[in-house]
Amino acid sequence: MWSGKMAARKAMVAGNWKMNGSLELVKQMSDAINNVKSNEIDIVLFPPFPLVSAMIASGVSTGTQTVSENTPGAFTGEVDAQLIKELGAQYVLVGHSERRSIYKESNDVVAAKFARAQQVGLTPILCVGESESEQENGKTEQIVAAQIDAVIEKLGVAALKDSVIAYEPVWAIGTGKTASPEQAQSVHKFIRDKIASLNSDLAQGLTILYGGSVNEKNSELLFAQTDIDGGLIGGASLKADSFTAICNSAKGTV
Ligand code: PEP
Repeated sequence: MWSGKMAARKAMVAGNWKMNGSLELVKQMSDAINNVKSNEIDIVLFPPFPLVSAMIASGVSTGTQTVSENTPGAFTGEVDAQLIKELGAQYVLVGHSERRSIYKESNDVVAAKFARAQQVGLTPILCVGESESEQENGKTEQIVAAQIDAVIEKLGVAALKDSVIAYEPVWAIGTGKTASPEQAQSVHKFIRDKIASLNSDLAQGLTILYGGSVNEKNSELLFAQTDIDGGLIGGASLKADSFTAICNSAKGTV
């Protein structure tokens, strides 16, 4: 089966600020990012909702950390995809492990959010990954496959064309424990092969990010793996030096 980096893909480094950040950090980070931007790599930040407009105005590609699966109506506290698009954001994270575990978002809800994002022209970044006990019980591939299948069953494999997948083992998020480059590559290859069995061209063009305690010391080896096209970064995306070093380490890797 095909495995090798190809020009159709572009490296991406995405920073998920979670419930952190400030107007001051938008300024600091956008100045730093605007200095390392290049055509080789897409750099995207996902600040909390109140900072989205300021981030867009700073010239940095922007996404939101979640989106409502519904169309406008009586959903207090939720944010509509069309409004996110209208503001000028381009991406939305769906299925981040914190949304799945804290807010009990099921695979079906995540697939509905994915659908709604695409409906208005936003690019969903579908986060998938297994928990520590699932990993210990050898269930990684089964869990990741089910998370991706929920989207394929709802929308068909073609929907993955205008999306990004982020493999984020839950046990590696915010814990300082990173998957080894070999471990991560093996799951990324599983994901690409699984999608290739349905549509090989689509799989070859699909950007698959790794996330989970990525920092400026481990990013280079992770991003050098054949099926790893960049990273989704949490903690280290709040520090300009670390984040820009991670961005630089993704250049020339895809
Ligand atoms: C994340 O929140 O998606 C993440 C990968 O966090 P961290 O880099 O802090 O592990």
